[in-house]
This record gives sequence, structure tokens and C-alpha cells, in this order.
Amino acid sequence: REPIVAIDGPAGAGKSTVTRLVAEALGFLYLDTGAMYRAIAWLVLEKKIALDDEPAIAECLESTTLTLRRTNSTPPLQVSIDNTDVTQAIRTPQVTANVSAVAKLSAVRQVLLKQQQQWGEKGGIVAEGRDIGTHVFPNAELKIFLTASAQERARRRLQDLAHQGETQIDLEQMEKEIQHRDYIDSTRKIAPLCKAPDAIELVTDGLSIEEVTQAILKLYAR
Ligand code: C5P
Repeated sequence: REPIVAIDGPAGAGKSTVTRLVAEALGFLYLDTGAMYRAIAWLVLEKKIALDDEPAIAECLESTTLTLRRTNSTPPLQVSIDNTDVTQAIRTPQVTANVSAVAKLSAVRQVLLKQQQQWGEKGGIVAEGRDIGTHVFPNAELKIFLTASAQERARRRLQDLAHQGETQIDLEQMEKEIQHRDYIDSTRKIAPLCKAPDAIELVTDGLSIEEVTQAILKLYAR
């Protein structure tokens, strides 16, 4: 198979843009696994299933098709649940606030893990998430763990939201939300957010997207 690049890290570390640019530069597939967890969270909220009702969520997933399609625009992945395009809907603050509760369920992780590994079967992929280097592609040729201070990450998330027209949240509140999400993601029993022992940690405070992208491409070329 072709090589695999795994990019993990907490919320707001700049993974999405950097992963997309690295994939573009290498001519590889881009896989945003967070979008998949978000799509399931959207579905659970839409169906009004309790976030901790694992049997009901498992049953619902059996009759649901999650599809990721490559596009030639931004965002580069279109996400659909059955025949509904949820590409925009999975980015709302409501989905963001609830996704970690859904992502910690074994029924959800089992289904998505399988789908993610199918995407990477032939390699030639750059995948981003929380458990790519540890669980999804433990044999990835290059593993990056992207981090930044909580304040920097909150600032970036706020900037993203402002682009979407959301201006209700202040920096301190955003920092708390991010820390809460990271706490759930890193303390869950299955595939918690953590750096793989063989991952290279990049602290991105003060670095531009371009600088981080170039740093990763350099590591890849080594
Ligand atoms: O990357 P993004 O912020 O879109 O991820 C949303 C959520 O999906 C994370 O906070 C985490 O709960 C979950 N996730 C995960 N494993 C991954 C990717 C995302 O549990 N590989």
C-alpha cells in the first residue's frame, strides 16, 4: 500500500487545514474522522435519542448510511447521513457541545473505525483525528501530534466560528468548552485522545498554517 500520514491532537490545534494542505501537497486522500463523529452526533440529536442510550444509538446506526464524498471545493469532504447532506449542520455549536459524549460509545467507535480503515486500505491518505496513530492506522509511516496552548486553540476556534457568523461566544467561555471536550476525549475508556509513542509532537503556538504544513512535509520527506 501507499504511505499513511496520521495527524492527531486536541480541538483547535489547527489539524483540519493543515491535514488538507498536506494531503493536497502529497496528492493523497484527505480523511477528517472528526466529521464522521460529528455526523453521528447530529443524527442522535436529530432523532432525539438520549446521548447515553447506547443500545438505541447502536440500533439506529444499523439502519443508517454515513457517506463521505470528495469534492473539489472547500470543504473537501461532503458528509451525508442517508440522503441528507449534513456538511454544514455538523459544524454547529450544538453538535460540537455534544459530539464527545457520542464519540465515547463503543457502538459508535466500532462502526466508524471500520469505515475509516476501509478508506485507508490502499494507503495514500492523510487522516486527522484523536486516535489515528494509536488505533485507526497504528502502522502509519508518519505520525504527528499537533498541540497548542488552550488559549491559542480557543482563539482559533473563535475565529473559525466568526467566519460562520457565530459571534455569541467569548474567549474564556470557548477555552472552557475546549478544555471540557478535551477532558472527555482524553479520559474515555476506548481509544482516548493521546500521543502515540512514535508520534512527533508539534507545538503550533505562534506558527502559521503554512509553517506547520511545511514542517510536516519536511518530516515526511526524511
Ligand atoms: O476534530 P473535531 O473537533 O471535528 O472532532 C469532533 C469530536 O469527534 C472530538 O471532540 C472527539 O470527541 C471525536 N473524535 C474522536 N476520534 C477521532 C476524531 C474525532 O473521538 N478520531
